[in-house]
Amino acid sequence: MWTEQRERYIASLRQRLSNARFAHTLGVEQVAVDLAVRNGVDMHRTATAALLHDYAKELPKAELLALAERFGIAVDPVYQASPGLLHGPVAARLVQQDFGISDAEVLVAICNHTVGRAGMTTMEKIVYLADMIEPMRDFPGVEALRALARQDLDAGMLAALEQTVRYTMHRRLAVHPQSVEAYNDLLKIGKEKNHETV
Ligand code: FE
Ligand code: FE
Repeated sequence: MWTEQRERYIASLRQRLSNARFAHTLGVEQVAVDLAVRNGVDMHRTATAALLHDYAKELPKAELLALAERFGIAVDPVYQASPGLLHGPVAARLVQQDFGISDAEVLVAICNHTVGRAGMTTMEKIVYLADMIEPMRDFPGVEALRALARQDLDAGMLAALEQTVRYTMHRRLAVHPQSVEAYNDLLKIGKEKNHETV
């Protein structure tokens, strides 16, 4: 059952993605499955979200905006300024339509892998992090982030968001409010955890 489903996703991704992005996708799947096992989340459902997270990544900006409108996705000023960010929310709708995926947790993990949100589920955090630390990723600090993510998902997420927000600001791009909310939320979770152990 899973093997056939996965083959279906893979065949479609091969059509939609460049070779490099296809390889990235398999790396995200591999890391996401490892993090799912470590955190007691269902492997195949997490693998589904990981495999399909960039399903809409190579659509032109105009098409992302058109699909967002068709699906009734609210295009806020940050999405307007950086339509590429819509590839998460648009992919969540497309895979529902194209594969009949109705698993809300899988869809939400695909939807929020671009900007995050406050109150992310474990699966959402796994896909967000796996996207950032898959084996082909190479940026200063990636090894430390890999180690942190394996050790503590929330600590890894906080570090990942800090990195993303910093980098976005550094490039003078608009930061999505959901990313700031996700950061503040994880900061609070971290403080509460530290408090508990003291
Ligand atoms: Fe993506
Ligand atoms: Fe990705």
